[in-house]
Formats: sequence, structure tokens, C-alpha cells
Amino acid sequence: MHQHFIHNEWTGQGETIDVIDPSTGAIYDTILRGTASDVDAAVASARKAFEGEFGQLTAAERGRLLMKLSAKLQEHSEELAQIEARDCGKPLKQARADAAAIARYFEFYGGAADKLLGTTIPYQNGYTVLCLREPYGVCAAIVPWNYPMQIFGRSVGGALAAGNTVVVKPAEDACLSILRIAELAREVGFPAGALNVVTGFGHETGAALVAHPGVDHVSFTGSPNVGKLVVQAAIENHTPVTTELGGKSPQIVFDDADLDAMLPVVVNAIVQNAGQTCSAGSRLLVQRGIYEKVIEQLSQRFAQLQVGSSQMDLDCGPLIRKSQQVRVKSFLDDAQKDGLTIAAQGKLAAGVPADGFYQVPTLVRDVPITHRLAQEEVFGPVIAAAVFDTEEEAIALANGTAFGLVASVWTRDGGRQMRVARKVKAGQVFINNYGAGGGIELPFGGYKASGHGREKGFEALYGFTQLKTIAMRHD
Ligand code: NAD
Repeated sequence: MHQHFIHNEWTGQGETIDVIDPSTGAIYDTILRGTASDVDAAVASARKAFEGEFGQLTAAERGRLLMKLSAKLQEHSEELAQIEARDCGKPLKQARADAAAIARYFEFYGGAADKLLGTTIPYQNGYTVLCLREPYGVCAAIVPWNYPMQIFGRSVGGALAAGNTVVVKPAEDACLSILRIAELAREVGFPAGALNVVTGFGHETGAALVAHPGVDHVSFTGSPNVGKLVVQAAIENHTPVTTELGGKSPQIVFDDADLDAMLPVVVNAIVQNAGQTCSAGSRLLVQRGIYEKVIEQLSQRFAQLQVGSSQMDLDCGPLIRKSQQVRVKSFLDDAQKDGLTIAAQGKLAAGVPADGFYQVPTLVRDVPITHRLAQEEVFGPVIAAAVFDTEEEAIALANGTAFGLVASVWTRDGGRQMRVARKVKAGQVFINNYGAGGGIELPFGGYKASGHGREKGFEALYGFTQLKTIAMRHD
């Protein structure tokens, strides 16, 4: 059984939540079901650290601490990858990439900590005006189950680099890597209270955290509906919230695209993490001149895809839980009921455990923009393809959902690349490539229902600080 990590100690008792291996459906561990008083203790610890030892560190000292954690994470990368693979059901190669990414997050934010500068403003004669970037204080980070390590890295790395202390509420479905990382942070010398982790259900532990009057900033990554609840709860205390929500991200392919470059990227962008990626390339919009050719070549690739357990380390692992498997199937059932065509599907590999939560990658063609499959986040390895004729039509389709997280444009025409990139409403647009997950150095976040604010990159540090203007009169 895993306890909470509060003030550099394992602590807590009471009811537990089962930890299930998505590859087999078997229970193999438990975590604590955190209560409001556990949250109180974690927030008090973070406050103490902010006003005490961690808050006294210089920016350079904070940076060095984050760098030390990065080195420690690299040392333990295989162990962390194994934990994450089993907990989330990820193929090992994906979990290894996630372990490398979290080390890079702490390296990046360690390097950034002492480069977060303020500004001066030319004002009236006899004045000097300074704008200082100050940390909020206690930051809450609500993390989903799809990339626990990576999302912890970007939210917590940025918050700590900017001088805040943190209370993390990881997802009840996958949190073991985060608990291990908290312990590694203590080993490299994080002062007690700088980083606390409280496990539990979202509607209980998460809700208590975001509504807590002692929390000064909330970073929420999760679904759009829960994002709304979090904003509503936080507003009661006027607590600012960054929301990183879902997506229905389009890849727009014009007749002159380089298909050899495009096809493997399109496959990876939907198969990665079994499609359970906020920035999954879940819609494919193709110009009429090459539509049939793209569907044919993509179908051949989909037919080769193999699904298996995390340890089998194939193209695609299981979904996170049974209810997610049922939900993804409901999209495909609706597609078939509505007369849509499944162009191709991958296959379950021989020897896949019978009780895992598997779904084979699926390509559905000619999906109207009004269909549920083109509008809602499936969060499974299902891609919806549609045809377009003109550039204007492509842009209208790309912008035709509530979301606006990531998009890509595939064409050799330089003018068209930039015209389309400028008109698509998305927080990140890739040209002739696609970065599901979006790159550690690159600001990431949504337009429209995909969220508010930016994480990743240097830009994130502005979101973890508040600006104080000091106007000094000295004439
Ligand atoms: P979710 O919204 O159900 O849960 C996310 C987290 O919020 C979990 O830790 C959960 O316990 C917690 N939570 C649930 N109810 C809460 C409440 N009332 N108050 C506070 N916290 C609460 O999402 P999920 O199913 O875990 O993750 C999948 C969703 O996350 C998808 O919609 C996906 O697109 C999105 N996501 C977005 C990004 C991004 O950066 N934009 C990244 C990853 C995932």
C-alpha cells in the first residue's frame, strides 16, 4: 500500500483504492483514498516550505536542485519506465520516452530558474518603475493518468523553478511513478514541504485541493468537463487556474504533400499511448486528389499494427480501464450504426492477456464533421478521415470543433503552409510534421475548449508567477 508523501514523509491511513494493471485487468497494489484533512496537511506543509527553507533559496539554488533531480531521474529512468508502463499499460518504449522527457523537463526548468527576469518601464520624470515576477506561493497540480510523469514534469518543474511550492493530486488510475519521484526529490535534498503528493479520487481529494483557501494557483490537466468544475471551485477563492484540456486535433493534407514523410507520422500520432493523448492527431483531412491513395496506403499500415501488453512492447498497448474500453467501443458502434466505413484495423497479437482493456487501432473514412466521431474526444486509437476540395474548406473543417489544441499542415507550398497555419485556431501548429505532446521547449496549451494558459517552454514560467509593479518616486 502506498501512502501520501507530505513534508518529506510517507503518511496517512484509511480507505484504499486498487491499482489495476490495464494489460491484464489484475489488481496488484493499492493507494490511499485521500481525505480533506490529508489535503489540509499537504497544503500546510507546502505553505511552511514556501515561507521557510524552500522560499529562502536563491533562484540559482532552486535551479541546481531541479538539475540534481533531473540527474537522479536519469539514473532511475529504467525503474521509472517499468513503473509507468505497468501502471498506465503503456508499451515500454513509450514509458522509456516518458522517463527521458521528465528528466529533460527538470533539466530545462532547472536551467531556466535564474533567467526569469523582470522589466523596467520608462515612466514620468523622477520615477523608476520595476515589474517583478513573484511566485504565487502554494501551487496545486492536478495530473491525469495518460502521461503521469510527463505532466508532472511540466507542471511541477515550472512551478518549482518559479519559486512556488507544490501539492500534487495525481490521477487515481495511475500515480505510482509520481510517488516514486517525490521520494527521489527528497533524496537529492528537496526541503520538506516543497513537493507533496496526495493520492485519491478526483471528486474527493482533487475537489478538496482546488477549493482549498490555502492554495494560491491551480494547474489542471484533464478533461473539459472536470476543467469547468475546477474553475468553478477555484473561483470561490479567486484562485487563478491554468487549464490544459482535451483536443480533436486535425492533420490537414494537401495534394502536394510528401506522403512517405506524412504516413508514418499520422499513424504514430494516433497510436501513441493508444490514442490516449490530449494532442492525438485524431482527425485526418485530405484533399480530394490524393484521398483514395492516402486511405489505401494508411489502411495497409493500420493492418500491420499490433496490440499487446506493456511488456510485449508492440505498436499499441491497452486502454487505461474497462470503462474507457466500453466508451471507445461506443464510438465505433455509433459509426457502424450510422453507416460509416471502417477502412482498416490493426490486430491483437498472439498471447495477449485475456482480461486486458484492449482496442485495436481503427481508421474510419468519410466521417462528416457533424458526426460524434469528428466532434468528441474518443481517447482511443481511432482516427476519423474526411475529404476536402479547397483550402478554405480545409480550414473550416479544421476549425469545426469546440477544441483547438494542435494541428498540422502537410504541403510543399510555402505560402499555403503559413496561410493555413495562421488561420487554424490551435495552440500549436506543425508544418510537415506532427508533435503529439508538443515538445518540452515549446509553449503548449489550447484555444477554445482545449484550455486556458500555457505550460511547457519558458512561457510557462510567466503563468506560475504574478507581476508586481513597483513605482518609486525619487525626485
Ligand atoms: P479527468 O478530468 O477525469 O481527471 C483528471 C484529473 O482530475 C485526475 O487527477 C482526477 O482525479 C482529477 N479530478 C477529477 N474530478 C475532479 C474534481 N472535481 N476536482 C479536482 N480534480 C478532479 O481526466 P482524465 O480522464 O484523467 O484524463 C483525460 C483527459 O485529460 C482528456 O480529456 C485529455 O485530453 C486531457 N488531457 C489534456 C492534456 C493537455 O495538456 N491539454 C494532457 C493530458 C490529458
